[in-house]
Amino acid sequence: MKSQDIRLKFLNFFKEKQHSIVPSAPMVVKDDPTLMFVNSGMAPFKEYFLGNAQPKNNRIADSQKCLRVSGKHNDLEEVGYDTYHHTLFEMLGNWSFGDYFKREAIAWAWELLTEVYGIDKDILYVTVFEGSDDADNLPMDTEAYDFWKTFISEDRILKGNKKDNFWEMGDQGPCGPCSEIHVDIRSAEEKAKVGGKSLVNMDHPQVVEIWNLVFMQYNRKANGSLENLPDKHIDTGMGFERLCMVLQGVQSNYDTDVFTPIIREIETITNKNYGKDEKIDVAIRVISDHVRAVAFSIADGQLPSNTGAGYVIRRILRRAVRYGFTFLDKKEPFIYRLVDVLSNRMGKAFPELKAQKHLIENVIKEEEQSFLRTLDKGIEMLEHHMDFNTLMKDKVNTIIEIEKVISGTTAFELYDTYGFPLDLTQLIAKENGFLVDVKGFENLMQKQKSRSRAASEMSTDDWTILIDDAEEEFVGYDTLEANVKLTRYRKVTSKKDGDMYQLVFNLTPFYPEGGGQVGDKGYLEDAHGDVVYILDTKKENNVIIHFAKNLPKHIDESFKVVVDAKQRYRTECNHTATHLLHQALREVLGEHVEQKGSAVHSKYLRFDFSHFSKLTVEELRDVENFVNRRIDGKLPLIEKRNIPKDEAIAEGAMSLFGEKYGDTVRAIRFGQSIELCGGTHVKNTADIWHFKIISEGAVAAGIRRIEAITNDAVKDFYFENNRAYFEMKDLLNNAKEPVKALQNLQEENTNLKKQIESLLKAKAKNIKGELKSELQNINGVQFLAKKLDLDAAGLKDVAFELGSQFDNLFLLFATEQNEKALLSCYISKELVASKGLNAGQVVRELGKCIQGGGGGQPFFATAGGKNPAGIDEALEEAKKYLN
Ligand code: ATP
Ligand code: MG
Repeated sequence: MKSQDIRLKFLNFFKEKQHSIVPSAPMVVKDDPTLMFVNSGMAPFKEYFLGNAQPKNNRIADSQKCLRVSGKHNDLEEVGYDTYHHTLFEMLGNWSFGDYFKREAIAWAWELLTEVYGIDKDILYVTVFEGSDDADNLPMDTEAYDFWKTFISEDRILKGNKKDNFWEMGDQGPCGPCSEIHVDIRSAEEKAKVGGKSLVNMDHPQVVEIWNLVFMQYNRKANGSLENLPDKHIDTGMGFERLCMVLQGVQSNYDTDVFTPIIREIETITNKNYGKDEKIDVAIRVISDHVRAVAFSIADGQLPSNTGAGYVIRRILRRAVRYGFTFLDKKEPFIYRLVDVLSNRMGKAFPELKAQKHLIENVIKEEEQSFLRTLDKGIEMLEHHMDFNTLMKDKVNTIIEIEKVISGTTAFELYDTYGFPLDLTQLIAKENGFLVDVKGFENLMQKQKSRSRAASEMSTDDWTILIDDAEEEFVGYDTLEANVKLTRYRKVTSKKDGDMYQLVFNLTPFYPEGGGQVGDKGYLEDAHGDVVYILDTKKENNVIIHFAKNLPKHIDESFKVVVDAKQRYRTECNHTATHLLHQALREVLGEHVEQKGSAVHSKYLRFDFSHFSKLTVEELRDVENFVNRRIDGKLPLIEKRNIPKDEAIAEGAMSLFGEKYGDTVRAIRFGQSIELCGGTHVKNTADIWHFKIISEGAVAAGIRRIEAITNDAVKDFYFENNRAYFEMKDLLNNAKEPVKALQNLQEENTNLKKQIESLLKAKAKNIKGELKSELQNINGVQFLAKKLDLDAAGLKDVAFELGSQFDNLFLLFATEQNEKALLSCYISKELVASKGLNAGQVVRELGKCIQGGGGGQPFFATAGGKNPAGIDEALEEAKKYLN
């Protein structure tokens, strides 16, 4: 059975059981602080399980894109080395929200596997929860056991512990026992040798879990105790690629038609064969896996970047690039060439891949190119470190055992200078039997990051419920003030913000951050005149949360809540302008322009979009004019709330990939521009007054960014520009033609710089000549320790210049600059090898004389310190290394 049909059969089966079939939610999570990527089928439905929203149908089935590369579920290390864990995979799931429970979930799973798919029941095993005698003191799940018994012989039902058979959403929230279904696809011969039962949950590649049925019946509270859930839920997840492996009669997910076309393409491009050499096979599996993860996230709007979810994607891609580089000899970009096959194969089930193919290819290619620029140098440096450590070990092998460790400094330099994610350094180290000093790396990382990790650690209390089952209504499209009741609140404590209160009302005019638009600020006031400021508003799992420093005094009374109208108005100007800008870009540049991200603040707006070249001055002017014409045209806001998504699309509204839309949507229209949008807007484009682009540039391959301002900010902008112009003119002695005067100054400056440079060069040349004559021969080593009147770069230049002329050199140079001391030590590589000398060690030790520290490589290292008076002592000490 082809994978396409396997997926369809699953969905049809549950459709016949009255389930609504929904498309996969985007993989990148936007409104859940505990999760970066969807890592299981249930994640997009969290709001239903938490009771924050009601699904239209309480039975749903889908195939959900999942990514397991960080946090609670991280399978990255397994991928490629085993045959059944992926970074990105599809999870087939059926869901009951307070509807059917264990009996149906078990019966249907069995019917689907054995009757619809025709899996031989003699290869199946199931597990049930055995109970726990810890603090939870939970009973065994006899209910599930008894249902299973009616389908499968009891010697195929295994009892499992809490780790395998009790599922929890997180530290808090819904949880319950689960039943896993495992398959044993080994040959009859193998089975005769060892029974399958003993291999279940033992990481055997042919005895694997395919489906997990979770029975949510408890709620875990913040204090750790459990309570029964009023509505019980079913959450199931079946690994699609593993199911394909079983149904296609192969022994590895990579031998199913989900992967073989990609693997064939890798073979063609790299001229390597799959299935001959384990190292090459791992590389091919890793790349065929990683390209899927990266392509799907780009399609969802998550581009590789240096932080957060973007960095996870970059890490995955860089890992793949390095596997290609080292094991498949691919020194130029090639992973982007796999996107074509991928989008052909998967484009039907996931249209976003087809629609964005061009962009995905461009982004991956550019990422590959940029990493390949530093990859070989980084590998060289890493190998050098490993060689050196091994060399040291060889020399002293008989005396002490030197640990095979890559220092935190090296790992950090690889990260910072060569773009090696830590996990990649660890991987290469591991291949060579080395470990990485992760603590050391993290310390350096911490120093670089201004915000420490501890600052973002939070503790969250349980909600205090004031009004049971309260619904929350958003009234912020129509009003900025309302009389409200507090329905629940909780305290969140973090080092960064201290205590904060999260407040939820029965209704609210506060817009929660979302769709690029910032959350509203404002205040609440009670009848006694007590005021609490609302500092921000956010949506979490579909609940609108207001952030305040204090809890209102009279929590049971009504409050007046008021949104900061000025900030809201400015934000609305920018939001409407963003829509007009999107329309303008499609008009001026073409229909290929698609929104790739936006940030709508009160002070400015930012818009990222797909386009492949820099905008010309004319294009920018046309875009500005287009928007300003619509502002002058006084176009009214026409808004349709709660219309079916299909109806809005039929009217011409564009939906965005990577956005999660409900069944009904809100459509916004200004003139011709219709968009699906939950944000707030001006009532008429005339309110915007004026639109001005202040910058345009590239964010990534094929993605450009425009920043623009509206309304008052434009007036400020012109005013400031004008002032700067007059100040500059003043500085140029009121020159009639200030631009020309500035050009003259620049020219003069360039000439002067050139003169200085040549003077310095002459000086360095003299110094080199002098230094050569000062070299002392000590025990066959050319030695010199001296203070020079040069900067750090000068010291290095002179050292390397001399280094190129001798192969037995030991230099220690020092200089004093801005009341700081600097040492730099150069040792010929030959001496490093023959005498076991190490420049890093030298500067670390002598650095103490100048009250400082440093490090570097065995043949060249530097140290800085705050005590120039110690320079002489350091120079004096240097000789001791040669005795
Ligand atoms: P395993 O123990 O094999 O890692 P799991 O216990 O982590 O599985 P669940 O979290 O229960 O798996 O996920 C439900 C199903 O999703 C599993 O039964 C399996 O078929 C599939 N699955 C889980 N992780 C992966 C992965 N990394 N790649 C492919 N499929 C997976
Ligand atoms: Mg797992």
